[in-house]
Amino acid sequence: MVAEKEKENHQASEKNDVLKSTQTVIHLALDKLGYPEEVYELLKEPVRMLTVKIPVRMDDGKVKVFTGYRAQHNDAVGPTKGGIRFHPNVTEKEVKALSIWMSLKCGIVDLPYGGGKGGIICDPRDMSFRELERLSRGYVRAISQIVGPSKDIPAPDVFTNSQIMAWMMDEYSRIDEYNSPGFITGKPLVLGGSHGRETATAKGVTICIREAAKKKGIKLEGARVVVQGFGNAGSFLAKFMHDAGAKIIGISDAYGGLHDEEGLDIDYLLDRRDSFGTVTKLFNNTITNQELLELDCDILVPAAIENQITEHNAHNIRASIVVEAANGPTTLDATKILTERDILLVPDVLASSGGVTVSYFEWVQNNQGYYWTEEEVEEKLEKILVNSFNNVYETSQSRRVDMRLAAYMVGVRKMAEASRFRGWI
Ligand code: NAD
Repeated sequence: MVAEKEKENHQASEKNDVLKSTQTVIHLALDKLGYPEEVYELLKEPVRMLTVKIPVRMDDGKVKVFTGYRAQHNDAVGPTKGGIRFHPNVTEKEVKALSIWMSLKCGIVDLPYGGGKGGIICDPRDMSFRELERLSRGYVRAISQIVGPSKDIPAPDVFTNSQIMAWMMDEYSRIDEYNSPGFITGKPLVLGGSHGRETATAKGVTICIREAAKKKGIKLEGARVVVQGFGNAGSFLAKFMHDAGAKIIGISDAYGGLHDEEGLDIDYLLDRRDSFGTVTKLFNNTITNQELLELDCDILVPAAIENQITEHNAHNIRASIVVEAANGPTTLDATKILTERDILLVPDVLASSGGVTVSYFEWVQNNQGYYWTEEEVEEKLEKILVNSFNNVYETSQSRRVDMRLAAYMVGVRKMAEASRFRGWI
């Protein structure tokens, strides 16, 4: 009995292994495109992975040693690019998978980058402002040799923000002895940040929802939308969908969900959420995240964490469209079930690529020292995302594959070609 339970647990964790799932789809995509096995061997793992120990003097005078990672997936196309996550559950495998997803995103929206990702095992919710500053600066010192404006350009991710990017840019500039705004993106505007960066991921998701709704014949005006996660991605998305006339009937955070068939007051919730995207603690009448995901709605947007829609709940999802704002919220088994049920799933590597697109705009502006207006940024983002959505959608139709496999096929091609021209494979 115990052995059986252990076997079941092992099988479940294998299925939810985000690195393995990503490798499976990359393999399938390369096969479909007719690339030989050595291309998969090159692309299945990051070309570089650094693990660092960061000693930090805490406010009580004691030293705490944190573990951090930086993965660089593939730099054939150009420097690598991707966020830094501060979270207690960060693992080496997760950082590797996230770096591969960044490569795919850059390929899908056609940016001159490969993918990178960083993470530190820590809980910023339990740390003071100054402890966070020391940790951020220590991380940059530890990885400084492999990063830089033309090597690898970090950005924010879960539980990191523009203040952390500012400390990191300052630390790198001291090491480099030059002001180096192009070292990192997601900075405050006064330090060379770009207009529209804070809301870019949500804007990109909103564009994908609009395009997917057109394909499904759903009008955004009055559409019932559920959003899991009320942080950077989820909260702005809820606001944009609300402004587009949709009814946001459910939102959630790590502590639970809120549900109102008449539509939630998004402006009020935005005003009351804290900087970690927590708002439901203020209410008594909450539902669980599982209940939230299974609400009857037109559009479901997982915008929190990985492995939320699995083979256990995919049959109960009642939305017509699922748009993945989060990285890796749907397992491969669940993707298959949703596709069989004719639910249109817009995958993470396409839907959440607005963030890296505007990060690229920020880097371009830093490199040329000439800054764009918010309208210019939005116009460029709109064009790129609409083209990318249609490219993936058409690939999925013409090759008769689901949108995830189609997105991987589009995303992986440029990397494979650049590696071939460089003579690596
Ligand atoms: P965030 O830290 O700002 O917010 C995360 C939200 O998820 C919070 O509301 C938090 O309470 C909630 N959450 C955390 N654990 C949860 C759990 N177990 N169950 C339900 N909710 C939980 O993060 P973010 O920047 O909004 O990122 C969310 C997702 O979007 C992540 O997968 C991230 O990788 C992805 N993403 C973000 C960006 C970006 O620019 N912010 C870009 C691309 C992808």
